[in-house]
Amino acid sequence: MKFGGTSVADIERIRVVARHVKREVDAGNEVAVVVSAMSGKTNELVSWTKEIAPMHDAREYDAVVASGEQVTSGLLAMGLQHIGVDARSWQGWQIPLKTDSSHGAARIEDVDSDLLIERISGGQVAVIAGFQGIGPDNRIATLGRGGSDTSAVAIAAAIGADRCDIYTDVDGVYTTDPRIEPRARRMEKISFEEMLEMASLGAKVLQVRSVEMAMIHGVRTFVRSSFDEPESINTQQAVGTLICDEDEILEKEVVTGIAYTKDEAQISLRRVPDRPGISASIFGPLADSHINVDMIVQSVSEDGSKTDMTFTVPNGDVEKAVKVLEDERDDISFEALQSDTGLAKISVIGIGMRSHAGVASTAFAALADKNINIRAITTSEIKFSLLIDADYTELAVRTLHAVYGLNQ
Ligand code: ADP
Ligand code: ASP
Ligand code: MG
Repeated sequence: MKFGGTSVADIERIRVVARHVKREVDAGNEVAVVVSAMSGKTNELVSWTKEIAPMHDAREYDAVVASGEQVTSGLLAMGLQHIGVDARSWQGWQIPLKTDSSHGAARIEDVDSDLLIERISGGQVAVIAGFQGIGPDNRIATLGRGGSDTSAVAIAAAIGADRCDIYTDVDGVYTTDPRIEPRARRMEKISFEEMLEMASLGAKVLQVRSVEMAMIHGVRTFVRSSFDEPESINTQQAVGTLICDEDEILEKEVVTGIAYTKDEAQISLRRVPDRPGISASIFGPLADSHINVDMIVQSVSEDGSKTDMTFTVPNGDVEKAVKVLEDERDDISFEALQSDTGLAKISVIGIGMRSHAGVASTAFAALADKNINIRAITTSEIKFSLLIDADYTELAVRTLHAVYGLNQ
């Protein structure tokens, strides 16, 4: 059972979480719990690290930001003991949950499950601090924002749990973010692959790596709400969304969901020479500077000698990218460089796209109808993405949600 920030926002909410856990224990389950920090806490901790020193040691950043989860794990263990449930807290290093050395965005390498399993089978609930582990340098490492989801799936895989329940402030995965489109529908089931696309393309309900990990280890992951009365829930028929193998899903829709990110910037290099190696000379230095390039559009050159190269990067990286390209100007020899921030990427996802033609053209027509200009398009097997001005995000999401018949 994993509980996110809003689910443990204050002492009252932590008491409710304790009752959810007790319900499962009373139903005869052996339980490991993973908790996030109280909502807003991690943001506060991150802001303090920036305040004290804008350029700081990533290992000390981790020492600071991992502390939010330490607090909630201890509080929940106390809350459980208080209602008669045997429980203890576990920090990442105590398990140990081992990570690589990329502080701030560490990847889980190994979870030692022996001690956990021993205690859990002895009837003790393990309350584990999410988001944190221990690196090869013997220092605390955090898993990137939203990383408690990944802690939960990794623990579930390591202890061989029947299921990983992600309790949050919505009662499942919706066809799009319910905060943007109130007519969004909860899905009963979604495949690992589609969920991976949804999460990668902006649906923040699960951290991308948690879905990756669930897919690799076949962890049945169930997204559900912590905001229902704990004792009123029928444990056999809980409401939520199961993320599972494609074969388990009988009704396959062409379009499953719509995701968006508002964090996009576009860079255009005008009139670069159209010659072999030009892409390498542009994207090589960007990659070396760890800048994630996403959509790439190269226009046809009129006379076979010059071309325009347009691509997107995260908003936060645009200045760095421009600098890298300016430094390489002699080598790339572009005539002009333009950058634009304030863009959004709207993505349409569905496994049915593998076997249906013309899915994207419906979107083009629908957005044209609303006078929304599409700046770039990318497609792959089960999704396509459109780059538009961020001001039109809500309108575009709602329009596409309706046109693909996803409205309730
Ligand atoms: P937690 O603190 O429990 O980890 P998050 O805020 O990380 O919760 O994730 C839950 C939020 O994800 C919801 O409140 C919702 O606004 C947002 N969200 C975005 N896209 C979706 C979607 N397709 N389905 C459900 N929730 C979504
Ligand atoms: N508390 C961490 C964060 O806010 C991890 C999490 O909530 O999953 O990013
Ligand atoms: Mg989250």
